[in-house]
Amino acid sequence: MKKACVIGYPIAHSRSPIIHNYWLKTYGIEGLYEKREVRPEDLADFLTNLVDHGYVGCNVTIPHKEQALRLIPILDGVVRKTGSLNTVYLENGTLKATSTDGEGFYQNLMATIPGFDLTEKTAIILGAGGSARAIIERLLRAGLAQIKIVNRTPSKAEELAALFGPKVSLLTGDRFGIESKSAALLVNTTSQGMKGQPPLEVELSALPEGAVVADLVYVPLKTEFLKNAEARGLRTVGGLGMLLHQATVGFEKWFGKRPLVTNELYRLVAKDVDPDFT
Ligand code: NAP
Repeated sequence: MKKACVIGYPIAHSRSPIIHNYWLKTYGIEGLYEKREVRPEDLADFLTNLVDHGYVGCNVTIPHKEQALRLIPILDGVVRKTGSLNTVYLENGTLKATSTDGEGFYQNLMATIPGFDLTEKTAIILGAGGSARAIIERLLRAGLAQIKIVNRTPSKAEELAALFGPKVSLLTGDRFGIESKSAALLVNTTSQGMKGQPPLEVELSALPEGAVVADLVYVPLKTEFLKNAEARGLRTVGGLGMLLHQATVGFEKWFGKRPLVTNELYRLVAKDVDPDFT
């Protein structure tokens, strides 16, 4: 039986087991996805001897992401460009790593807004952390002309501008109103608006009518940010769909089948986030 897992320390509440075990059952694949607490001092042994520990691959979460970068011999182009990884797998006996957040964001965006054309458009990204990097890398490949980053710590946005080149730049808060007039996409990649975190307060009035507003936060399932965007008549994309879509990449690498993100799966995980979800 093939097994995969998510490793962290401590291993926080993760919804990945619900997702992967749903697909294993749906496709009749004999396998298991479980949570494993791995201490930082045991990470090298765990990853280097993944097969001996009983796994074909794993998701990597806090605090192991940086150390894992140094331990995995083959990093794909996305990891090399963004410096972040979340998925480890074996290919012909060699340990490899990728980052699935950018692809998950993009696939969910396209599934939610079919035919959304990003070519030569401008996006504004709130935040400059690991998920922002992954999303910027994917959006540039999708043909965006400009990506403007707003971040509490401006120097981090400047670092991303230096990393990705002239299409990516820092946007200071005082220019947000003017620049948002021409934005086709606005994405929150900060944790603001998440349950227990400070609210996200953004003035949406200048965004054009056709703009799409996306949030990576999925607790709550519909954030105030998305509710405000809907109240303005804008199309919105929630964070839970991204979580499901990013998981398809790892599942295929470990279990050999590209799974589908279905309404049934969405409902199953949404119920775990919010028992009142109907
Ligand atoms: P990260 O690397 O720690 O980056 C966090 C970003 O949020 C930074 O830009 C940080 O600004 C900003 N930030 C945090 N608290 C803030 C506050 N109170 N006010 C203003 N800015 C604040 O985190 P990450 O890995 O990118 O994840 C960010 C969020 O996305 C988390 O909520 C995470 O759960 C979510 N996420 C969702 C998915 C999904 O599948 N839906 C996938 C990945 C991540 P500074 O640079 O100033 O610190």
